[in-house]
Amino acid sequence: MSERAAPFHCPYCGEEDLRPSETGGHGAWECGGCARAFKLQFLGLLARPAATAPATATAPAHHRTSPPTPPRGAPDEPHRH
Ligand SMILES: [Zn+2]
Repeated sequence: MSERAAPFHCPYCGEEDLRPSETGGHGAWECGGCARAFKLQFLGLLARPAATAPATATAPAHHRTSPPTPPRGAPDEPHRH
């Protein structure tokens, strides 16, 4: 796994003149536009449920099926008028 995460723009001024900082340590970058030094750190992957898939494709087909409940007024129940 690559440890390099290169920013394309400065997060502070938007300048593209970025260079890795030798003094900042791992993941540190220096901006030539605003002379800021910042650090990038990979925190990990987000655990989100299928955000890229369309909602209609992932919808379960058995969503509208009614639960197997016994009907009211069972046939074995005597009706008296
Ligand atoms: Zn900058």
